[in-house]
Amino acid sequence: MTPEKSNQTDLITLGRRIRHHRTARGLTLDALGAEVGVAPSLLSMIENGRREPRLTLLHQIATAVDVSVPDLLTDEAPSHRAGLEIELDRAQRGPLYATLGLPPVPSSRRMPLAVLENLVGLHRELQRRATEAIATPEEARRANTELRLERQARDNYLPDIEAHAEAMSREAGYLNGPLTHRTVARMAEQLGFTIIHVADLPHSTRTVTDLANGRIYLPPASIPGGHGLRSLALQAIAHRVLGHERPTSYADFLRQRVEITYFAACCLMPETAAVEFLEDRKRARDLAVEDFRDAFGVTHEAAAQRFTNLATRHLQIPVHFLRVGDDGALFRGYANDGLPLPADVTGAIEGQMVCRWWAARVGFGHRDRATESYQYTDTPAGTFWCSTQTGSTTGGEFSITVGTPFSSAKWFRGRDTTVRHSSTCPDEACCRRPEGDAAERWAPAAWPSARMHQQVLAALPRGAFPGVDDAEVYRFLERHAPAEPQDGEA
Ligand SMILES: [Zn+2]
Repeated sequence: MTPEKSNQTDLITLGRRIRHHRTARGLTLDALGAEVGVAPSLLSMIENGRREPRLTLLHQIATAVDVSVPDLLTDEAPSHRAGLEIELDRAQRGPLYATLGLPPVPSSRRMPLAVLENLVGLHRELQRRATEAIATPEEARRANTELRLERQARDNYLPDIEAHAEAMSREAGYLNGPLTHRTVARMAEQLGFTIIHVADLPHSTRTVTDLANGRIYLPPASIPGGHGLRSLALQAIAHRVLGHERPTSYADFLRQRVEITYFAACCLMPETAAVEFLEDRKRARDLAVEDFRDAFGVTHEAAAQRFTNLATRHLQIPVHFLRVGDDGALFRGYANDGLPLPADVTGAIEGQMVCRWWAARVGFGHRDRATESYQYTDTPAGTFWCSTQTGSTTGGEFSITVGTPFSSAKWFRGRDTTVRHSSTCPDEACCRRPEGDAAERWAPAAWPSARMHQQVLAALPRGAFPGVDDAEVYRFLERHAPAEPQDGEA
């Protein structure tokens, strides 16, 4: 509660207590006003919590109604009815009521008690629903964790979506290698959609689909031939292909996100072609995510994640995947190979610090951005081999790591690396304790100013589409809707 709000609340209660004692003494506003020497209108404002009485006036009022000042100032409602009046007043002055655009109803003494109770009951329910409609960061983290564990249990492989995507891209004329923008447009056409690039998409959206007019709006391509847009378009298409309904919960929303991302990855790196490529590289003992990436013209992260879909199912290789920021925090992770990912007490991994001896962090020291860096890491759960590629965005540097237990390293390029580190995390002695007598020397003298941690999962309103401003989306659609919708186009 803000100080301003709590002050206002106290004034409402104070006003009601004054009114209660005044009427109990049989005094009218005029009579009390005459006794304390102020206008009745001022007293009325004070009783309605609209004005704060000076302390001297408060003393005079207390004397006039024959109670002590502390008794007037307690925050207890003077009666059941007054408690309801205070609650109604408070609710009508709150931000939630303001969004409804309704006129306030003064809780006068003439209002029947049943009406008062009814209104207060409705306000309580409105408040409860509004609070429930917020997906808390905790809820979001739990939903995320549940989904990750489920994916790990299925080796990150979703056969139905694989089949769907493969059939669609074949029908649109895809053969092998990078998926062209033209093929993506044909896939949209198969579903009755036209892809339109616009510069004024609502800020809270990545894409907007107009179901009535069969249009998918995408941002303009910032780099001609840039590949990011193919994935966005495919994700928009995926909602239709996979028959998604409006999400009913945050978990539902997250699951749809996972599925559309999966669908897009399947289109960009179709199962048959991708597995053929990877099996060939495995036979040559020369598996490398960087080659997979280049063969299909996708980002390193997309290739690394796609590799986790296919590696266990088709190549019998257990794997882990990490995206880590230059602050050492885990942004995304997956492991079905026994690597213990850092997690909080709820099991959530997002935002957790990765051991500084893991390849995902050691890799930041590798300055050659053109190639992956490799390392073996001895951990309490065994020895792992990892390949790491670093990159940067406007948000800072990041590393993408794909790794596997020692026994499977033989299939990968870089297995002959001599870089080897040892990690005993989560044991604090591994890399979280100060070295030597540094703590003794600096503990009394160090005064750092912390940078607020980037919010990995902020609270999202759980509307139909979490985090999206509906009004903005509708304005956008009106701006772009064709003048006359044609029959049967939806
Ligand atoms: Zn460590």
